[in-house]
Amino acid sequence: MTRAGAKIGRVLFTKEEIEARLDVLAGEIQERYAGGELTVVAVLKGSLFFTADLMKRLKIPVRMDIIEISSYSGGVTPAPSGEKTLSKYIADDVHDRDVLVVDDILDTGGTLAEVLGLLRAENPRSLATCVFLVKKRKRRLKVPIDFCGFEVKARDFVVGYGLDYAQRYRNLPYLAVLKGVGKSKRGTKTSSRRKPAAVKKTRRKTASGERTGDSRKKRRPRPVSSGRRRKRGGRS
Ligand code: 5GP
Ligand code: MG
Repeated sequence: MTRAGAKIGRVLFTKEEIEARLDVLAGEIQERYAGGELTVVAVLKGSLFFTADLMKRLKIPVRMDIIEISSYSGGVTPAPSGEKTLSKYIADDVHDRDVLVVDDILDTGGTLAEVLGLLRAENPRSLATCVFLVKKRKRRLKVPIDFCGFEVKARDFVVGYGLDYAQRYRNLPYLAVLKGVGKSKRGTKTSSRRKPAAVKKTRRKTASGERTGDSRKKRRPRPVSSGRRRKRGGRS
């Protein structure tokens, strides 16, 4: 199936439904972190709109940082190895801070598991997760989700509200199913038959000799497993 065959299908959640859910989520988050200061770490690019809209609703002190990580090389099928590419990492120290990781969608859990592993090593005071969407499926990786927007079917490949197909459709204000992209009877290639990445194994495999030590140098995207940890003080 070519990319040209992809079409926007059923709308799952309208702009209004998303906004109403965000109000509720923001209320829950505020309640949890009342009296403290929250550090939101957005997992880009997919969670860009969700994070921004959520943060605008929070009335507690909130800081923001970003991580950019991807497992898809432009379509609906993640890299078969499950390897992720980390192209941006948090700039500020999150040690002893209350960190909330905000991501677009939990599918196998591989992406979030990687991100949580990296952030746990920074010794935050607390580490919680908030995802816009959770795919209803069995997961080998048990990723704790503290706040969730909506559930979607595992067989649906969804786009809009930050989620893309080959970098398109992120700007749709609603969430829709994408039709005509490598669907089988039981689902897309991203569905439950995909084996989640062995996160630790991947990390070990590529851990050697990747780190330059100079956080201010412009780096090429590289596998998340490359042993990079922090880029403290490198950016303002
Ligand atoms: P996981 O690592 O949990 O298997 O996959 C998470 C990532 O895969 C998400 O952050 C997102 O980038 C991508 N992904 C998984 N399912 C979908 C989907 O239905 N639509 C889009 N646009 N991206 C998806
Ligand atoms: Mg993502």
